[in-house]
Amino acid sequence: MFEELSLYGKVLENYDLVNNNTYRVSSICKYFVLPSSISDLQNLMRYLKETKFKYFIIGNGSNVILNSNLEEYVVISLSSLNAIEVHKEYNMIYAEAGAMLPKIATISIESSLTGLEFAIGIPGTLGGSIVSNAGAYNCQLLDYVSSVTILDDNFDIITLDYENITYGYRTSMFKEKKNCIIVAAKLFLKEGNKDESLKVVKDRKQRRSMTQPLEYPSAGSVFRNPVGDAAGRLIELCGLKGKCIGGAEISNKHANFIVNKGHATSEDIIKLINLVHDTVLEKTGVDLIKEQEYIK
Ligand SMILES: Cc1cc2nc3c(=O)[nH]c(=O)nc-3n(C[C@H](O)[C@H](O)[C@H](O)COP(=O)(O)OP(=O)(O)OC[C@H]3O[C@@H](n4cnc5c(N)ncnc54)[C@H](O)[C@@H]3O)c2cc1C
Repeated sequence: MFEELSLYGKVLENYDLVNNNTYRVSSICKYFVLPSSISDLQNLMRYLKETKFKYFIIGNGSNVILNSNLEEYVVISLSSLNAIEVHKEYNMIYAEAGAMLPKIATISIESSLTGLEFAIGIPGTLGGSIVSNAGAYNCQLLDYVSSVTILDDNFDIITLDYENITYGYRTSMFKEKKNCIIVAAKLFLKEGNKDESLKVVKDRKQRRSMTQPLEYPSAGSVFRNPVGDAAGRLIELCGLKGKCIGGAEISNKHANFIVNKGHATSEDIIKLINLVHDTVLEKTGVDLIKEQEYIK
């Protein structure tokens, strides 16, 4: 199988994804494949469909909890599909799905385009961030997306315009369509002022480093905020800050973050998430919804 997969890009066998997820948990997959073009990706997907091998797409691994054993999986990274083009005459940016969101935001600001300042501290790829409709400070990515190019169920390339894309708070139609792979998107921004944008970015960065435990590996907020409330407030109210299971800890800085204090496993993280969920439900009646996805 290694030889066949090698036809579609770089392949690593029995690969540890420890550096491909922001929790930095160890997780061994059978094959890790990096297609070098969209057509390689199409051919790879057709091959995997024939062989019925389990697969999943990984972005920057900043919204997932990877099971320690993924030996049944081919994990596909789009990190080589990372082109970013600025079309200043249309206030538009075209980017491939593997491009990092903070990089796209930085390039847009450098080009005096405004809109993506909120995204500077979100460590995801464009593809992964479209799936979860990443957002912060009352802004959300899909409000700036004018079209998304995907591989459909037959792995043909199709482009969906804004009108045909449905999304909500930290979710999108792409979350439900498990077979759909995002390969690129166009972002529509506004003419801006670089200095003004840089001021906003500085403020956002300061706020994050004051309130979030950025010094430890994590995958950002564990739970969505319930309407009109903050998950962190409820978790703190239940006295759970600082609670540890194995190497995973509920951050003392921000109760809606779980951090890896050393050698946390995905099992430690999942046990802690379940403990938080059940305790908050019992003590406050709120049924928190997970933002992070467990890949097992
Ligand atoms: C310190 C920190 C701060 C964070 N702050 C925020 C924040 O403010 N707001 C916020 O919304 N999030 C935040 N996050 C969470 C995370 O960064 C975002 O959800 C991000 O958008 C996830 O992108 P990713 O590329 O890492 O996706 P991954 O975690 O790699 O994948 C997430 C899901 O998307 C799927 N996927 C990935 N790429 C594709 C593709 N091309 N096509 C189809 N499916 C795909 C994966 O299979 C998986 O199901 C934070 C995380 C950290 C660590």
